[in-house]
Amino acid sequence: MTARILVVDDIPANVKLLEARLVAEYFDVLTASDGYQALATCERNQVDLVLLDIMMPGMDGFEVCERLKANPKTSHIPVVMVTALDQSSDRVRGLKAGADDFLTKPVNDLQLISRVKSLLRLKTLSDELRIRAETAHTMGIDELLRSSEGRGDESGQVLLVDGRASSQERIIKALKPVADVSAISDPQAAIFEASESPFELVIVNANFDGYDPLRLCSQLRSLERTRFLPILIITEQGDDDMVIRALELGVNDYIVRPVDPNELVARSLTQMRRKRYNDRLRASVKQTIELAVTDPLTGLSNRRYLDNHLSTLFNRSMARGRPLSVLITDIDRFKQVNDTYGHDAGDDVLREFANRIRSTVRGADLACRYGGEEFVVVMPDTSPEVAATVAERLRSVVETTPFQLKSSGQELSVTASFGISSRISSVITPGQLMKQADLALYEAKTGGRNRVVAAA
Ligand code: GH3
Ligand code: MG
Ligand code: MG
Repeated sequence: MTARILVVDDIPANVKLLEARLVAEYFDVLTASDGYQALATCERNQVDLVLLDIMMPGMDGFEVCERLKANPKTSHIPVVMVTALDQSSDRVRGLKAGADDFLTKPVNDLQLISRVKSLLRLKTLSDELRIRAETAHTMGIDELLRSSEGRGDESGQVLLVDGRASSQERIIKALKPVADVSAISDPQAAIFEASESPFELVIVNANFDGYDPLRLCSQLRSLERTRFLPILIITEQGDDDMVIRALELGVNDYIVRPVDPNELVARSLTQMRRKRYNDRLRASVKQTIELAVTDPLTGLSNRRYLDNHLSTLFNRSMARGRPLSVLITDIDRFKQVNDTYGHDAGDDVLREFANRIRSTVRGADLACRYGGEEFVVVMPDTSPEVAATVAERLRSVVETTPFQLKSSGQELSVTASFGISSRISSVITPGQLMKQADLALYEAKTGGRNRVVAAA
């Protein structure tokens, strides 16, 4: 993971120390010796994370953090505040100023690197989401993608696995402002709980009698349903060996006892956000794929999708010896609608036409806008007779009820012509099936329109 980290401290020796440790991990390091310089550096450079000292002359770390978080150009940069030992009041103020995490002086190597990596992973995800949101905006599809946004910063769902009732209580209380916590003391039962309920974080307190908490972590990582669930482990002071093994197993972060409530809140929030960003990214990938195969005007599948999917349906019907029919329909004298009422009115008609197709065909049928005012319905497991009935029903659904124009409220009589074809022994490719239906449609047009013709 390469990233650019800004180290801010008024004491040059502190800066040098942190810089050396980060450079050893191949991070790119920038430095600043006061708050003003820090703000300017963040504005001008692409900074991925800030390590921020609190006590500095002029502008202190709290104010720097507040200003970074208030500026839209820098508000997405994670800030780790470096506090003096046991300054719990500093952490409360830090959280209020928008800090994402804390480190205690003197800074321990393992803590420094694991915190930095944890926040950088989170930032990678949020950056990707921001880029996608911008792309969606330029493409004019943010409305379509917005539905995937879902959870923001509302109360999270946490599973706490903790062998002791007293510490369960303390942790539940500490997390109350940000999460609903379900506590459980049996690690085996926890695996079941974690895979059955939509938790966003598992906190494992390593305090069981005669049970290795890393076993639970490794089981959570190997199960399909909990593989992506963040895990935060609480360990004994000085038990670096366990922490290193836990991180190697894929545990996302750790906290050392005695647990500072503010630290617990900050780290839990980071992990829950990471989970939400991940979920949103996955949903957005799914939606992007859906958009690529959807006709924007009608919401039906587009021709690209039809061309691909028809051969799948065709081959399946061949393999199983089941019938398959297609229907092509083209709106009659549609050019006149545009010429008389305008292009927007034409679009209204297309949308309504698509709605009528959608509500007439079965769920298993594939309805597509094939182009202009031409639509295709692919009907698996459908004989030529049934296909003729479906086409006739659709023809009547179009003819019987006039179309209402949204723009003017005017009503318009619309008809359409239909060609149908079915997979029979002489039809051996999807292309031939479409060609037959197209010829039948042509016949329906030349025969006077507003009718259904089946391929010979
Ligand atoms: P026919 O009964 O022979 O099918 O006559 P027609 O007028 O429907 O056929 P033609 O192919 O001559 O005209 C199709 C028209 O459909 C022309 C084109 O401008 C219009 N059209 C194609 N796509 C769209 C669209 O997305 N929106 C609108 N409003 N019109 C479209
Ligand atoms: Mg037409
Ligand atoms: Mg046409």
